[in-house]
Amino acid sequence: MLAYYRRCDMRDPACRMQRRLFQEEYAFWQSQLPEELDSEFEWIAEDLAFRLQHTKTYVENRLWAVYALQQLPTLHALQQALWHLDFPRLIAIANTLNVATDKSWEDLDLRLAHYLHPKRENQAIPSAKQIRRFILEYLEQEAEPEQPSQNITITPVAPGLARLEVISSEGAAETIRDAVTKLARRLECTAGEALLKMALGENPNVVVNTYEAHPARGLRTASGAKFSASELATLKASATFREVDFDAETAGYRFSQAMRASIAGRDGHCRYPDCNVAAVYCDIDHVVPYGQGGPTSPRNAQLLCRHHHNKKTKKEITCEINEHGLVTWKTKGCTILLTYPEGFFGDESCKDPPNF
Ligand SMILES: [Zn+2]
Repeated sequence: MLAYYRRCDMRDPACRMQRRLFQEEYAFWQSQLPEELDSEFEWIAEDLAFRLQHTKTYVENRLWAVYALQQLPTLHALQQALWHLDFPRLIAIANTLNVATDKSWEDLDLRLAHYLHPKRENQAIPSAKQIRRFILEYLEQEAEPEQPSQNITITPVAPGLARLEVISSEGAAETIRDAVTKLARRLECTAGEALLKMALGENPNVVVNTYEAHPARGLRTASGAKFSASELATLKASATFREVDFDAETAGYRFSQAMRASIAGRDGHCRYPDCNVAAVYCDIDHVVPYGQGGPTSPRNAQLLCRHHHNKKTKKEITCEINEHGLVTWKTKGCTILLTYPEGFFGDESCKDPPNF
């Protein structure tokens, strides 16, 4: 079987054109990269930002992306063969790795090249967020979230309105978002009102799922985000553990809470290609409709945001799911695209059942 990312299908004229444009852009940034990463880098980035009328961050991100790829020879060779990684993905790699350190990236280079090598035909390429998480998994020991000193800021945005920002671990941020969203939905109020009720101790009883594939890896959110050590202790103290069962099935139309939690942990976000809407905002879709005999089981289910759920219901696009949770999408123009489950359990969902 020939494996390739859909965007690299050179039989498609749009893909050929996109590749040529990207190669030109990449060559430009490569030509601007200084030979040494010394103090000149700052000056060159600043000067280019002025000349091109981009922000300095825009310029630095692209220069760093090209530089970082050069420090990963196996991935670089793969990129030169496939041209599959665009700038958002290359920037995710560069910004997640601190390539300026003396560390050797030989092992990570091999793993990244394997991860970013297509496994099936018409495969959708992992998103920048997914690539970032893959690297952080590898660097797990070094990726412990640091404790911010002042972690809440309030910024006025309009008369009588303010934006509240909380700096926390990614896991805590996602869990707070999920709890607030669920409470707001239940009470039919705004997220701000729901958060206030929680802060005042009213209606705090919402169930938020966290996941554990192996006790040594600790609890994660559905998307795989990590918690700090103290947050983990708090969560473990109040958690109820249940086994995930991807083979569970019920005769009725509605998925049980346990099934919903399993599907969210496997999919992480909407399964439509390049859609990253988080699990808490998604519907659970019967891939083969219930009315056509599709079972109510995680094996016949996927997360879809409302927009993409409607698209499927209206038959603007069709899809199938296999036993590993891989979804094959087919447009009316017969373009085929395969999406992997990108949640914490991902495509390992058919192996040993984990806990949640
Ligand atoms: Zn979607």
